[in-house]
Amino acid sequence: MAVRPQRERALTFFLVPIIVVAVLVLDGVTFRNSFQLEKLREQSVIEATLLLANERADRLEKRIIDQDTAVGSTIDVIHRDQFGAEWAAVAPLQTPTVRAVLLIDLSSPYREVVAVASRSPGPEDLAFRRLLIRSMLRDMKLDEEPRTQLRHLHESYEGTSYLVSYWQREDRGRRYLVVTWHDIGAIIHKIFPALYGVPDRQSRVNVVDAEGRIVYGPPLSRGQLTLGRQFETTLYKWRLNVTMTAAKELAAAVSRRRVLEMVLVGLSGLVVIAGLAVVLVAAARERKLSNLKSDFVANVSHELKTPLSLVRMFGELLCSGRVDNDAKRRQYLQIIVHEAERLGNLIENVLDFAKVERGKAAYVFAQADVADVVLRATEACRVRAADEQIELDVAVDRELRPMNLDERAIEVAIINLVDNALKYAPEGKRIRVSAMRSGSGVEFRVSDEGPGIPVEDRKRIFDRFVRGSQAAERRVRGSGIGLALVKHIAEAHGGEAWVEPGAPRGSSFVFSVRSRPASAESAPTEAHA
Ligand code: ADP
Repeated sequence: MAVRPQRERALTFFLVPIIVVAVLVLDGVTFRNSFQLEKLREQSVIEATLLLANERADRLEKRIIDQDTAVGSTIDVIHRDQFGAEWAAVAPLQTPTVRAVLLIDLSSPYREVVAVASRSPGPEDLAFRRLLIRSMLRDMKLDEEPRTQLRHLHESYEGTSYLVSYWQREDRGRRYLVVTWHDIGAIIHKIFPALYGVPDRQSRVNVVDAEGRIVYGPPLSRGQLTLGRQFETTLYKWRLNVTMTAAKELAAAVSRRRVLEMVLVGLSGLVVIAGLAVVLVAAARERKLSNLKSDFVANVSHELKTPLSLVRMFGELLCSGRVDNDAKRRQYLQIIVHEAERLGNLIENVLDFAKVERGKAAYVFAQADVADVVLRATEACRVRAADEQIELDVAVDRELRPMNLDERAIEVAIINLVDNALKYAPEGKRIRVSAMRSGSGVEFRVSDEGPGIPVEDRKRIFDRFVRGSQAAERRVRGSGIGLALVKHIAEAHGGEAWVEPGAPRGSSFVFSVRSRPASAESAPTEAHA
């Protein structure tokens, strides 16, 4: 028998912490995963933005370099008389931002411009030529190998931004420099709109100069994820910025979802722990009840055995004919009657209680005189009270009218209370039984002069199988079902049962019944415990 509780206890001690730890670990892992997913999302947004910025910048550089290549394929250094003639034919279509192409003889000490081809020749070409010779050549990487490589110069001169492409050619031992002058205005007004002006719901683009002034495009709002990239080879002083406009909404949606996920995970953890707590409480209650039940079985067996052995012992004595004294014989017979009565009461109590437990307690209500019921019940206890030398006072309200109640049940309740008073208050001189009107019902009260009930016991002694501290202290026999039965009977009559401290000492057990409508007369009522 001891193996089972031990196993249950082991399960509780090991399983519960394991389940709680498992729930906490699972919750922790889910929380961590959620954070990692968020980081991954951020990373992927950054990567996508970067990719977009690279792709947009590369497209512009390709456009410019394509034009330089187109110029290069049309320029003929040897026949410099027709320099640029071929280019001029294709210029508007293939090189829309090239404003002029110049050829400089690098082998000459003066580095003179030996040929020019311009889209719209004018004074600006002359100014550019002067700037080129005086300042730009100085800033170009003319001696860096390979000299024939296409290079770019993106600089500001006299407050104006210039972009020129240049590369060298050799002819019969002389070095020539081909320079293409790109019109920055044309780049801003033709190429940028063509490349970056297409409305895009996902991203926004702008181009800023070295000082951060916007050259093209709208200002980009701060709160959003913006990445910038320098143009690597051509307009290298400028920077392209890209903002993922959808990133903010995406981030908000993801963080909303994360909060929801966390709340759900937290809730599921709470539900598991609450469920576990409920199961543990229920198991503890069940264990307590099963202990109480085993105590009950032991108590009842003991209660049955003692009177039975007394009946048998005195019965055998009388049968043997060895008792010749009349007074003794009467005394033995009284003991037998008294113990048989106790046995009967106990068995009746157990049977009534069993019916209550199974939900089959049937109460038969009928019009009854309350005084008669009280007198019958107290009469049943009078002999025992006299034996114990305790006075039994009975007081019934004279104005009480007949009531609709189960007479036998009320008698059982009163007998139980008087029996308890005799058991637990033998030192008292008097037990008072009364039935008084209270509102539309009656209050039955049994008061003794015994030890009273400790405050902490007052409520729980009405629970089934529960025995109070007095029972153990005074080693009084009992089964712990008497008061539970009284409570059940009171509740079946619409009332309740309780205990009050007696004055000046002892205790008063009270149960009330309410008057029921006469229509319920004689109808058996099933009351469930
Ligand atoms: P039992 O008497 O068989 O133990 P009951 O349900 O009748 O079971 O009573 C429950 C407990 O209430 C008792 O064990 C006892 O501790 C306490 N009790 C009942 N009546 C009295 C009383 N008159 N005086 C002191 N304690 C009492």
